[in-house]
Amino acid sequence: MSLGAVDLPYFSENGFRRAQCSATGLWFWSRDAARKTCGDSQEDEYTFIGSPLISGFSETGSALKDKMRETFLNFFEQQGHTRVEPYPILARWRDDIHLTIASIAVFQPHVTSGLVPPPANPLTISQPCIRLTDVDAVGASGRHLTTFEMMAHHVFNRPKDGEVHYWMNECVEFCDRLFTAALGIDANEITYVENPWSGGGNAGAAVEVIVGGLELATLVFMNLQEDEDGDVEIKGIKYSEMDLQIIDTGYGLERFCWAAAGTPTIYEAIYPESVSWLKELTGFSQILEGTDINLDELLGQMSRLLALRKVLITRLAERGVEIDEQTLLSVSQPLSRIYAIPDHMHALCNMLGDGLVPSNAKAGYLARMLIRRVLRMRDELGLNVSLSDLAEHHLQFNFEVSRMKQTTAGFLQILQLEEERYNIMLRKGENVVKGMLKSLPLDAVEIPDEILFTLNDTHGMAPALVIGIAKSSGWSNVSLRSGFAAELAQRHASQAKQAAKSTSKKRGLPELPPTKKLYYDDVWMTNHNAEVLHCSKEGDDWLVVLNQTCLYPEGGGQACDLGSINGIEVVNVQIENDIIIHTISNSLDVGTQVSVELSIDRRRQLMDHHTAVHIVGGAARTLLGPHVYQAGANKNTDSARLDITHHSRLSRNDLDEIEKLSNQVLQEIKTTEKMELPRAQADKEFGFDLYQGGAPKGGDVRILKIGEHDVQACGGTHHDEPA
Ligand SMILES: [Zn+2]
Repeated sequence: MSLGAVDLPYFSENGFRRAQCSATGLWFWSRDAARKTCGDSQEDEYTFIGSPLISGFSETGSALKDKMRETFLNFFEQQGHTRVEPYPILARWRDDIHLTIASIAVFQPHVTSGLVPPPANPLTISQPCIRLTDVDAVGASGRHLTTFEMMAHHVFNRPKDGEVHYWMNECVEFCDRLFTAALGIDANEITYVENPWSGGGNAGAAVEVIVGGLELATLVFMNLQEDEDGDVEIKGIKYSEMDLQIIDTGYGLERFCWAAAGTPTIYEAIYPESVSWLKELTGFSQILEGTDINLDELLGQMSRLLALRKVLITRLAERGVEIDEQTLLSVSQPLSRIYAIPDHMHALCNMLGDGLVPSNAKAGYLARMLIRRVLRMRDELGLNVSLSDLAEHHLQFNFEVSRMKQTTAGFLQILQLEEERYNIMLRKGENVVKGMLKSLPLDAVEIPDEILFTLNDTHGMAPALVIGIAKSSGWSNVSLRSGFAAELAQRHASQAKQAAKSTSKKRGLPELPPTKKLYYDDVWMTNHNAEVLHCSKEGDDWLVVLNQTCLYPEGGGQACDLGSINGIEVVNVQIENDIIIHTISNSLDVGTQVSVELSIDRRRQLMDHHTAVHIVGGAARTLLGPHVYQAGANKNTDSARLDITHHSRLSRNDLDEIEKLSNQVLQEIKTTEKMELPRAQADKEFGFDLYQGGAPKGGDVRILKIGEHDVQACGGTHHDEPA
């Protein structure tokens, strides 16, 4: 079974007609009886360039964004939605993605799975997002961005519990009224294109809302979840219906701004000051000297024709823009860089502002990639400005500094350090590339992917840079296939997904109730009775599951407790799906009562080290900056280790200061607070810095608060008194 037509009363009551697009074959709804195409096909051009579709907005740049965002959020507030503040751009609450890629990502997986209630219902939000999949097209296409705000209205229905706010018909009505009544869009210009959606394990019916050739919104009706035995199939994957029915919408703020400004490209609408400034610095007007090109006309026509690259020059000529390929290139290449730089700077403000530190791994890699793209484009444009200069200009015109968690000084310092590293990398680059390409024949046309990946991931050398060095070092025929940068970003994204998957291994135990964790009630409990629920042989050992235990299983970087059951030594304790498994050397009878004993000396040492890690981490954050985050931790009996994210190697002085502050905390704070809060409340009260140790797994979050010094979600065992 697949999904049928999106046939809604709102359509029939408001003069819509369903038709099949003559170009794409997709079904769409329109009030315009003469319409043959869906609005988003190769046959459809942008109609708003030079003649804005949305009326009443004379601003440009950040003022335009602010006014558009307010208009949207206000509209939905008036329709009974609660406004929710945007979440961070770094998806700290998830372990399968690094960056927030859509507004719904904020609610996945804990809200969308039904584990945690939404912060409001229905709600409206404008969520900053980053997507690097089209990074190569940014600047060149006239419309692509790596960072954007996704405005949305979300609904979480539970029809089985009688909780239904609204569904498809009302959703489309809200959207249509926003477009026509609130934004003054010509009703005949709007088409609703049926196109089922799937992603992140969920799926459902969906419509894309196209206006003037531009996709302005997507309305997704998510009521399906991935299920191998499901009876609905979308794009080859099987789904079944879920208890929770979710409306997931996405309205691209910047696209609304473009449609309201009617500028030749989206970049002039949202980053006008940056574009003018970079044009001036580049001496862009000189490129046009001696030609009779009307730049706005050229760019407008190019944006309209963006889907038709091959025939671009002929078609431009038909429209009265005569240009040869060489001139077109000399204009469009520098322009695409001028456009891409503010986009990338905006993404960096979002990422580093949120406390990210550039590195060669995970989200840090994505930031470094963008930094190096900016530096390369800057060099290609021959600009005599530093990365920090670019950032300062961007902060002045395009970014609300108060939204940054990072300090402006810290942000600029990180960029300065990254620029120094880039310069070092350029100096060393030639030898590194030559070494890696040693066995590649000089007449090769491509560099193997694996070499490019390695140079990128371990040496921080972007593929385009490697190609440049290779060309000047004798491999003159090599080139880079287009889309490689996006592939690299994708590769890093899927590594996160893989890592998230591989941590959820299974041991194949029978279905058992969750083990009661007595160590949370009292960390000093050293013995108790329990019932044996399961005992099975594994190699020379026996795996034992009890109804309750005071032995802490290995987790969160903390080694497991040891002890004994009925006098038999416990050599390992692990946890799987809330079931605690003790490894012992002898078998026990299921159903019998046993006595459990904890090795309290080991526990005390583990708690010493674990509590100390919290105090030292808090001290490092206080002293070094909000970007200091736990990158890894290990708490054992003889020592503990804490890895933190910081842009520079810690100096002797840094270490001394951290030690001093930690000791001070031990002196001043007498008791720790331990609490267990529902996810939504924990997020709200403490923010996402809470999840230093990784994404939380359950609906409730255990929190350790050490005065005002440090607060973290942590499932480990800690002292009640730090000292
Ligand atoms: Zn802890």
